[in-house]
Amino acid sequence: MNYQEILEHVCQEIQPFSKEGKQADYIPALAKVNPDQFGICLHTIGGETFAVGKATTRFSIQSISKVFALAMCLSLEGDELWKRMGKEPSGTAFNSLIQLEEEKGIPRNPFINAGAIVMTDILLSKLANPEEEFLSFVHSLCGTNSVSYNEEVARSERSRGYLNAAIANMLKYYHNIENDIERVLQFYFLMCSVEMSCQELSKAFLSFANHKKSFQYNHIMLTSSQVKRMNAIMQTCGFYDEAGEFSYLVGLPGKSGVGGGIAAIYPMRYSVAVWSPRLNPKGNSVMGMKALELLTTETQESIF
Ligand code: GLU
Repeated sequence: MNYQEILEHVCQEIQPFSKEGKQADYIPALAKVNPDQFGICLHTIGGETFAVGKATTRFSIQSISKVFALAMCLSLEGDELWKRMGKEPSGTAFNSLIQLEEEKGIPRNPFINAGAIVMTDILLSKLANPEEEFLSFVHSLCGTNSVSYNEEVARSERSRGYLNAAIANMLKYYHNIENDIERVLQFYFLMCSVEMSCQELSKAFLSFANHKKSFQYNHIMLTSSQVKRMNAIMQTCGFYDEAGEFSYLVGLPGKSGVGGGIAAIYPMRYSVAVWSPRLNPKGNSVMGMKALELLTTETQESIF
């Protein structure tokens, strides 16, 4: 498969969509990012790397960090995790309060904000140095120690984080948060603020693509069955209220973030990360989603 040629072709084909959508601006620091950027990088299980565009420019991974949090929580908690959250698609916005209230403080899944805030609480309870350990787990996955938090982005989000604060308060009311709410929110926003390039993100997701091997990075260990199940959750819950559309158009498990990034995997074949800040109304990158749709169409490779 000539992935380089296909990525270059895909990059040309998506140009008509280059001004569609707009970047997230509810986090003031993200509003400053130049929206007209695009990068894509693909790593094969066999060890090859292909890239086009701004594949080495770092961006705010935002909710893609929830995949790393889930890997850590599954390793630390095993199936106990599912006592505190579900694994069903939410069918509502990622920051919805209504569903959380109706379901009495049990988030639908780990990839909506409420689920990730509970995972943040778990990491705070289980780890001696959660901020350092989260980052060093990400370093071990992507093989680059310079990946870091952007504290300005985290502070900027905290300054407007009214809805996430409401979610955390409701979780606490329903006894699904053990730690101090402010401490949980501070760490949650910090996790979202991690900056990575497509190349680093794609490399980090290669371990999820390689699900037939068990997974061990630092002290985080997952069985191949747990990795497979993580992929199932990415498939059903990874794209906000558009997981069905993404499955229909692209057909790969993955996770997107409001920074405009999407990381996806083709199990036992490749991982891919794409970034372009302009988002559709559901919060997914317009160019990113289009590029992945064309990638799976042109390679005729998808899980379906
Ligand atoms: N930090 C963002 C928030 O909580 C993450 C959203 C996202 O990327 O989905 O609103």
